[in-house]
Amino acid sequence: MKVMKFGGTSVGSVESLLNLKNIVNQEPEPVLVVVSAMGGFTNQLLAMCEQAQQRDISCLDTLEAARKRHHDAIDGVVVESMRGQVHATIDRFIDESLKPYYLALATNPHMPVDEIERVCDAIVAHGEILSSAIVTGMFENGVPHLSLNYMRTVPDGHGRILDWEETGRLVKADYASLADGGVHVAQGFISRDKQSGDVTNLGRGGSDYTAAILATLLDAEALEIWTDVDGFMTADPRTHPDATVIPQMTYAQAQEMCDAGAKVIYPPTIAPVAMKNIPVWVKNTFNPSAPGTIIVNS
Ligand code: ADP
Ligand code: ASP
Ligand code: MG
Repeated sequence: MKVMKFGGTSVGSVESLLNLKNIVNQEPEPVLVVVSAMGGFTNQLLAMCEQAQQRDISCLDTLEAARKRHHDAIDGVVVESMRGQVHATIDRFIDESLKPYYLALATNPHMPVDEIERVCDAIVAHGEILSSAIVTGMFENGVPHLSLNYMRTVPDGHGRILDWEETGRLVKADYASLADGGVHVAQGFISRDKQSGDVTNLGRGGSDYTAAILATLLDAEALEIWTDVDGFMTADPRTHPDATVIPQMTYAQAQEMCDAGAKVIYPPTIAPVAMKNIPVWVKNTFNPSAPGTIIVNS
């Protein structure tokens, strides 16, 4: 079984979602697809949090634009029999969850700082919740999972870390049906605090880490990071147009470049898959025939 992670740009448009579908359909089942929020939507959700706190209600206009973007994607990619249901899911999360959260921020000037943080963490999780509903609906045999049900974090200094033991136990139970086949779909990035049950996340860019955690716990044969460049490159091609794809790297080389800021993989991703010797591929959703990069030991 492979774990295939598709980043924001890869789930950001009808064109890229159709590429995703073709790529996944070439895999034998079962397969586990981990998705990010639609490109740019996480930033928007957070910007709307700031606006709401300033009592700037125009954030609700941005929310309506995001609703339309998700509905347009559904019309373009979701199988017909599932469309109505996925449209309703998107509307339900926007109307019954996001809107009330933003209104609470905008109308409660005395909300304590830790409560504001909790609300914003709950809000930002919706990026992946919405995109995963669309991706699941693209496959006749799509099997939905909710990462909030098994990814568990604990406080660590000013941040949080994964609770491997609890997460491992919950993941194994949640994915018990994996062997029966199907296209399993999970959200990257999102988690819950083990003690309080509050919605948390693994940090910006954390969907790569979610995919690595699932690959490790479920003994995947490979982890594939599907993104918007042809592979792991010698430098960021946005700032270094002469950068070239590195065909093969060791885990240590990849870790070093990630730690130095190569955004293509979130740094905590490498260690768990390296421990289990799970090969990591970096591939381009927009150019799937390009060979990409393989990260393995030697
Ligand atoms: P995704 O949404 O798929 O997770 P990211 O934006 O997080 O995508 O990562 C992909 C981006 O990482 C590329 O578009 C590229 O600009 C940037 N990047 C930075 N350093 C590198 C590198 N060494 N190799 C490839 N891409 C890099
Ligand atoms: N959507 C989250 C972010 O933008 C997680 C991710 O894309 O990996 O940071
Ligand atoms: Mg990323």
